[in-house]
Amino acid sequence: MNTITLTNEFHNTSINLVPGRGGLSPRQVTRARRALCGIAGCTCGGDCGERGPGNPALAINPTTGWAELA
Ligand SMILES: [Zn+2]
Repeated sequence: MNTITLTNEFHNTSINLVPGRGGLSPRQVTRARRALCGIAGCTCGGDCGERGPGNPALAINPTTGWAELA
């Protein structure tokens, strides 16, 4: 799968990730959150810290912890 870019327009940050077959792994979700926001208790973004237009639709699977691409 190709690289995806997640952005956060509030903190003006971005990160490139290469999703696996099931989307973003729990480790990648942690990396993304840290890169895009990283502020404890901040609720600016989505499950992966993304915010703003142009981001792919992601939903955390509560069973696996993977962020699945819609
Ligand atoms: Zn934030």
